[in-house]
Amino acid sequence: MKLTKQTIDQVALRNKRVLIRVDFNVPLDGTSHITDDSRIRAALPTINWAIDEDAVVILCSHLGRPKGTPNPTLSLAPVAKRLQRLLNKPVAFTDDCIGPTVEAVVNSAHPGDVVLLENVRFHPGEEKNDDQFCAQLAALADVYINDAFGTAHRSHASTVGITKHVNVSAAGFLMKREVEALEGTVENPVRPFVAILGGAKVSGKIGVIKNLAGKVDKVIIGGGMAFTFIKAMGFEIGQSLVEEDMLDFAKQIHEQAIADKIKFYLPVDCVVAASLAPDAETKIVPIQEIPSGWYGLDIGPASVRLFGEVVQNAKTILWNGPMGVFEQDAFSRGTFALAHSVANAYAKTIVGGGDTALAVYRAGESESMSFISTGGGAALQLLEGKHMPGLAALPDRPH
Ligand code: AMP
Repeated sequence: MKLTKQTIDQVALRNKRVLIRVDFNVPLDGTSHITDDSRIRAALPTINWAIDEDAVVILCSHLGRPKGTPNPTLSLAPVAKRLQRLLNKPVAFTDDCIGPTVEAVVNSAHPGDVVLLENVRFHPGEEKNDDQFCAQLAALADVYINDAFGTAHRSHASTVGITKHVNVSAAGFLMKREVEALEGTVENPVRPFVAILGGAKVSGKIGVIKNLAGKVDKVIIGGGMAFTFIKAMGFEIGQSLVEEDMLDFAKQIHEQAIADKIKFYLPVDCVVAASLAPDAETKIVPIQEIPSGWYGLDIGPASVRLFGEVVQNAKTILWNGPMGVFEQDAFSRGTFALAHSVANAYAKTIVGGGDTALAVYRAGESESMSFISTGGGAALQLLEGKHMPGLAALPDRPH
């Protein structure tokens, strides 16, 4: 399935000031060190294209949640340094994203030069999609490119409002790849299509479950959210995570899946801990034998085997949400083992962003997946089949 929006390769960039909205919202270690630069790397095809086309390349992004005021700990300065290394060319960094000084830097830049603007969220106008702020940003550009898939679900100045003030707008290559991978997989999967859903809560994935329900051949539910389904079946779940107000929904979804002949798999065993303390006693128990007072924190070995068999004949696998508290060693095995099974399946494998991407990376399987989304909330929203403001604001692809 092709993106229906105009893309960067369809617009003239030569000698133009091209403002690219990227998603450089990278994790920092609390000082100024970037712990994972995948989002910067993911934007390189678009940036390099604009450089090769002899555009003056102006990059803007947000980082964290500074809430409309400058905050030195959320400066994009470390990103400028890293980008400089990745591009192997100088990156001019401006200490603001609008105003006369920034305009002077941008207007004196030459074709092929790269300028990175400071965090757009240092201005309250960004999240408010304020028209005056949009106009100030737009004053820096002849062409606007949105490549920030991770922020496409937000209606902000640099993702939506700016398009009203610039004559030419288009999507970048990352945006195209993300939308085609996620939407294309859901709308047009090669079958059997298996969805693996995990993570903490049913409520966080309700939209995804509903949207996928009519499209998949098999569903695997793991992680904390599985316990709401297991309790809805009438079993004891001890102190495991449960959402009482989701019990009816879980029951309905399960029954509907059976009626629709969708294969629906829940864990058959789990790793339980006596408490949430790091040194708590743990054991493996069948799902119907969780002792009261214990916490279910990972899927067990029988579930790993079962889920491994379920994905083996899949042709398309979509995975969103870990199988357990994978951040802790004791409860990481289920998620990591499933990552290996997914990687080994002869299937197109699509991993939803955020925690699942991190889990797959820690399992050492990132390279084996067909596609790993850079967007957490944005990926979820797309999988829910919902409107993406950052995408909607872009013009359609010319015929
Ligand atoms: P989500 O953002 O909904 O995908 O949830 C991801 C989080 O769910 C991770 O931080 C996991 O630690 C957590 N998680 C996974 N399984 C469980 C579980 N059995 N109990 C509590 N938390 C869990």
